Amino acid sequence: MRRYTYGPVLSRRLGRSLGIDLVPYKTCTFDCVYCQLGRTTNKTVERREYLPVRSILREIEEFSWERIDYITLAGSGEPTLNSKIGEVIEGIKSISSTPVAILTNGSLLGMRSLQDEISSADLVIPSIDAASQRIFEMINRPHRSLRIRSIIEGLRAFRERFSGEIWLEVMLVKGLNDAPDEIELLKSMIEDIGLDKIQLNTVVRPPCEDWVLPLDEREMRAVCNLFRGRAEIIGVSQAADVGHERVAEVRSQILELLGRRPCTIEDVSGTIGLHRNEALKQITILEKEGLISSRVFEGVRYFRAR
Ligand code: SF4
Repeated sequence: MRRYTYGPVLSRRLGRSLGIDLVPYKTCTFDCVYCQLGRTTNKTVERREYLPVRSILREIEEFSWERIDYITLAGSGEPTLNSKIGEVIEGIKSISSTPVAILTNGSLLGMRSLQDEISSADLVIPSIDAASQRIFEMINRPHRSLRIRSIIEGLRAFRERFSGEIWLEVMLVKGLNDAPDEIELLKSMIEDIGLDKIQLNTVVRPPCEDWVLPLDEREMRAVCNLFRGRAEIIGVSQAADVGHERVAEVRSQILELLGRRPCTIEDVSGTIGLHRNEALKQITILEKEGLISSRVFEGVRYFRAR
């Protein structure tokens, strides 16, 4: 079983993407209420080599190359916490011409050392969900040392030095960060940064907190209008999964397992030998189709077949 790579995962934004994990499960500077991976178990701002770069690169080398649109540093936590992220990017560049994307919560982008390390990436997708410290703390539950103003200024500094594309993602949670005054404040703080795209997302996968709700299409459009043409709405493209050669097999394995007992994402991923993110994606689709249901017990979400 692969330990550090997963996919290819199909997504509307990045096409066929090979995912790379750079940190252990839920090692993150945030503990977002909407996190699809569950609650953060290691909230930290300490950068170090959490997973061994040599092993990661060896696994990437062993990957049987098919058509891949991006190699994406993302996975199970905040990838920029790995202090050897620069070596990973260099290593990838030496074995492949596939563009490298980084999915990050943006909290460390103001660090000059990190800016240097990731300068040869092709695309960085940071997320910023709030402009005020109060909403930032409510939605992202950050490490106590982090301030949203500094993070936004860090993004500005990064933009000045980074020649690749930056697509900013804003995750919207109903009743939490979707008020017009919060959106207007966010817009005013980011509009002159020089972002290549601003993408609005909402909660489409099971969040770690049960009370977290998505915006509906009309509400998403209303928020989008506040950006006056600068933003676009993104979402999960379920259709993109059709044709993935393993989908039918994986779906029936998941249904069979969940018919026997309630399981967490980790149970499914460990039992079937799927990466957590792949398991999550298929479970989300099955839940939307009404084939499985879920409930939270003591902060952990369990799924079972209907
Ligand atoms: S930044 Fe990403 S990995 Fe970290 S808690 Fe938020 S959603 Fe989860």
